[in-house]
Amino acid sequence: MDKCVCFSCDRILEEEPCSEPLTLHPIYDGLIFRSNGNYGSTIFDPMPIGIEEMLQIIICDDCIKRKGKRVTRIHNIKRKVTADAEPFVLGRDTRGKI
Ligand SMILES: [Zn+2]
Repeated sequence: MDKCVCFSCDRILEEEPCSEPLTLHPIYDGLIFRSNGNYGSTIFDPMPIGIEEMLQIIICDDCIKRKGKRVTRIHNIKRKVTADAEPFVLGRDTRGKI
């Protein structure tokens, strides 16, 4: 499986060399997205028993920039029942300011 290809544009991304097979290798010029499923999905909704499984995709930074208006920045998701969310604005870091 070729895991360092942008899900959106098929660009091949460079991966940080790493000898540990269980460690997620950082990639350059892209982001890694993981999902543990969604109840409403018709393609991936695993039961949370036994093994933990996720789907993973990589999207290059250029594709994120092209569709930035569809990206949401989420804050405090582990500290609040309802996380703070705002539109993603490239280059603006608002962590802790909401
Ligand atoms: Zn891309």
